[in-house]
Amino acid sequence: MKLVTYSPVAGDTPRPGLVVAGDGVIDIPAWVAPAADVDFSTVLGIVRGGEAARRALDTLASRAPGEAVPMDRVQLHAPIPRPVKNVFCVGWNYREHFEEGSMKLQDSRELPRWPVFFTKAPTAVTGPFDRVPFDASISTSLDWEAELGVVIGPGGKNIAPEDAMAHIWGYTVINDLSWRDLQRRHGGQWHKGKSLDGTCPMGPVLVTADSLDPGNLRVTCRVNGVTKQDSNTRFLHFKLPRLVQELSLGMTLEAGDVVSTGTPPGVGFARTPPEFLKPGDILETEIEGIGVMRNPVGE
Ligand code: ZN
Repeated sequence: MKLVTYSPVAGDTPRPGLVVAGDGVIDIPAWVAPAADVDFSTVLGIVRGGEAARRALDTLASRAPGEAVPMDRVQLHAPIPRPVKNVFCVGWNYREHFEEGSMKLQDSRELPRWPVFFTKAPTAVTGPFDRVPFDASISTSLDWEAELGVVIGPGGKNIAPEDAMAHIWGYTVINDLSWRDLQRRHGGQWHKGKSLDGTCPMGPVLVTADSLDPGNLRVTCRVNGVTKQDSNTRFLHFKLPRLVQELSLGMTLEAGDVVSTGTPPGVGFARTPPEFLKPGDILETEIEGIGVMRNPVGE
């Protein structure tokens, strides 16, 4: 099952939709009976709604009323346009990306024994086809990072690895866009350079966990049609159960929290010479089984 957050007409208040027959969108609030314990007006409300919400969606999917609107006629937003918390991110989670970064930065660090976590501000989240702001007076080193995004649900704390997959509600595509000079300038911590407005394109859909095996999905990133990253989630160093375990250690994860799981090799800064996005570029981020985002840069 795939969900979207969409506006029937561009600029309308975003609402949750169920994707049917490949490319049709059904307005969930219009077709699901109101429930006391579920807020069906947003995807976040549905994720928080747990089992009751899932049962209602399953019923709707099996009924598939004939009111679907073609997806290319609506405006798609990030499935969770404004997460309640920062987006959790994982650094260095594909061995070859770690090696390309280590080589470029000329250090001899070793692959970490524990995942590296950092976060992106909720205001960084933007839609799968939205323009990414580009202000050359702030920075000109905008880099791409295609990543598998995980939406948590239900929440938990001290989650055991063997229970972790039951705490994943679904999957989406994220590009962890990074302004590299800002990322390096602020004491070597990454939050600022990865939190500027528009640096977290997310979408185009949220695929429920029962519909997708996250362990073997092709991950690609293209700039103006030229492939820059082409890898597979099977090369993730820390797998999803370990990430959920480590992140939830002593820290409550809640339904609707978003985790971006790290990027494969092929980022711009590690290239010779380095490559960065510039105004007018078209950035495409794709994960098999989820979909493709297409974000124009700047102007
Ligand atoms: Zn990243």
